[in-house]
Amino acid sequence: MPGFSTRAIHAASRIPVAPQPPLNVPIYQSATFEVGSAEELAELLEFRRPGHSYSRYSNPTHAALESALAELEGGEAAIVTASGMAAIHAALASMLSPGDEVLAPLALYGGTYAILTGLLARFGVTARFVALTDLDSVRSAIGDRTRLIWAETIANPTTEVPDLAALSTIAGAHDISLVVDNTFATPYLANPLTLGADLVVHSLTKYIGGHSDLVAGAVIGSAQRVAAARRVVIDAGGNAQPLEAFLALRGLKTLAIRMESHAATALAVALALEGRPGIRRVLYPGLESHPQRDVARRELRDGLGGGMLAIDLDGGRAAGERFLSRLRIAVHATSLGSAETLCSHPASSSHRQLSEAELGAAGLTPGLVRVSIGLEDAADLIDDLGAAAG
Ligand SMILES: *Cc1c(COP(=O)(O)O)cnc(C)c1O
Repeated sequence: MPGFSTRAIHAASRIPVAPQPPLNVPIYQSATFEVGSAEELAELLEFRRPGHSYSRYSNPTHAALESALAELEGGEAAIVTASGMAAIHAALASMLSPGDEVLAPLALYGGTYAILTGLLARFGVTARFVALTDLDSVRSAIGDRTRLIWAETIANPTTEVPDLAALSTIAGAHDISLVVDNTFATPYLANPLTLGADLVVHSLTKYIGGHSDLVAGAVIGSAQRVAAARRVVIDAGGNAQPLEAFLALRGLKTLAIRMESHAATALAVALALEGRPGIRRVLYPGLESHPQRDVARRELRDGLGGGMLAIDLDGGRAAGERFLSRLRIAVHATSLGSAETLCSHPASSSHRQLSEAELGAAGLTPGLVRVSIGLEDAADLIDDLGAAAG
């Protein structure tokens, strides 16, 4: 009889056969998978056979999330990654070579700005920043080296809504790609692939996870483009983790009702705060005063404005900091898409890498605070945010 350790290890590896499928996808917490032959392993490593070999390449819990995200975004395939930034890295690194140029918006997620101007710049990729809401300046910024246009469905943090269908037409006419960060809108509010985008990226950390308890990302698009992104993830080790994939799958089940609630409350807060003394401007795509309200009405489900708003306070940086210190219900924290309302001051946090001139060009005034409306009762948030602003 084999020794105790041998028997313990084999006994503990018996996979239960469950005739009744569980309601939820199991967490396949395993780095590796047993194969029947060297040939089978070689085929799995090259994705020539369905199945899994090693969790940096693929994993059943990841695969379940990938197929759900592909379906909800209208893509052929998806890959889930360690974070939103790993997804952004995989998308960019799979499409660009030294000498290529990216057109990106002035108002842009800080991490995307950082990878474009830092890591990728060191590898010979240049970035040119334009206002994506000004289609003429987009057209005139495209040059011989431009390979792709990067857009956010709803821009961070100014809530601009670029016309993705028009950008996709421009990209197509120049034989370049359109990649869209759909984190703020989620697949519930918008499907950029159906508007002509070539690739969509997400930070699942935000609305899809929905509870600020995971960090993960995803790239979604055609099978060919996703295979190229997967190659980058395998080589750079940017794979997701099974527990995070499980939590993101759980989040997907309630995404629609959470987004409806975030949007209804955000609109109520925006309407209540717009025009109050001490508040210069409320930027929210659901408000009639929003500069791209028409685009939002076309592009976002039922014309909803999402859950993010920007409040521009009188009194500049000091007013922004005072706002954060006065909050009683909303939480001063970075990130977004939580059950809790989260507030931040981009000029001193997420966008601190930008110079004063760049902040100004991006519409990021020093008194601007970013609010991720949570799932609390609207009346309580109106009181809390109103008192903090006033
Ligand atoms: C948070 C965020 C990211 C980065 O995602 P991580 O999961 O933090 O790596 C990218 N884009 C947008 C719009 C984000 O809000």
